[in-house]
Amino acid sequence: MPEGDAVHRTAARLRRALDGRVLTRSDFRVPRHATADLTGRTVLTTVSRGKHLLTRVEGGLTVHTHLRMDGSWQIAPAGRRLPPGDQVRLVLANEQWQAVGVRLGVVDLVGTGEEERLVGHLGPDLLGEDWDADEAVRRLREAPGRTIGEALLDQRNLAGIGTIYRAETLFLRGVWPWRRVGEIEDLHALVSLAHRLLDANKEHAGTVTTGDRRPAHQTWVYGRAGRPCRRCGTRISRGEMGARPQERLILWCGGCQPR
Ligand SMILES: [Zn+2]
Repeated sequence: MPEGDAVHRTAARLRRALDGRVLTRSDFRVPRHATADLTGRTVLTTVSRGKHLLTRVEGGLTVHTHLRMDGSWQIAPAGRRLPPGDQVRLVLANEQWQAVGVRLGVVDLVGTGEEERLVGHLGPDLLGEDWDADEAVRRLREAPGRTIGEALLDQRNLAGIGTIYRAETLFLRGVWPWRRVGEIEDLHALVSLAHRLLDANKEHAGTVTTGDRRPAHQTWVYGRAGRPCRRCGTRISRGEMGARPQERLILWCGGCQPR
């Protein structure tokens, strides 16, 4: 699943392809907006907010998309053949480039003035210019009885963390994922570390939290279930957190992250 850093990069790619150019094609393949037509309008810009993408178009319209589990925006020279089948949800193209939204979890078209309704609930964006660690901590503290693992994925607390950064951040802080938020001494250090990890990865594909870009060396615990911990040698554990059907993968080291 794409996390905040991947969405941030996607926004940058969309800006390079679409900003300031007139749409020559718009093809919404979702029932709700099947008749929408943005042809002839100039794309102003695309911004990311947490894991949401907002593409603003001349005339006060915003295309709201979300990659969810396995969506992507594929950018290619205009006129390139589209991916097969029913995977394509949206095509936005100009004379030079086409941006094809594949398997997007959300495709919506709203007034730009309505953006707050879509993303206003989000906590501080870890990669936003207005990132605010104090506000993220304040929101986390509102539910001290919650597990820190679940609280970090709740985008209303802070926006941009998925299962990879959750696992890696908790490992690096030595925090057992099921510890209660109220029992964690230094939440500020925890969210600041998450911010630094996403920020360090925002310009390039892949997630590197160890500082070592070689394949199979990039993470401490994520993707390493059953392998020895890089610090203490304990086998990395794998489990799930959260109530069904929303449970999500968690990996941790029982040695470095004791109960
Ligand atoms: Zn360990």
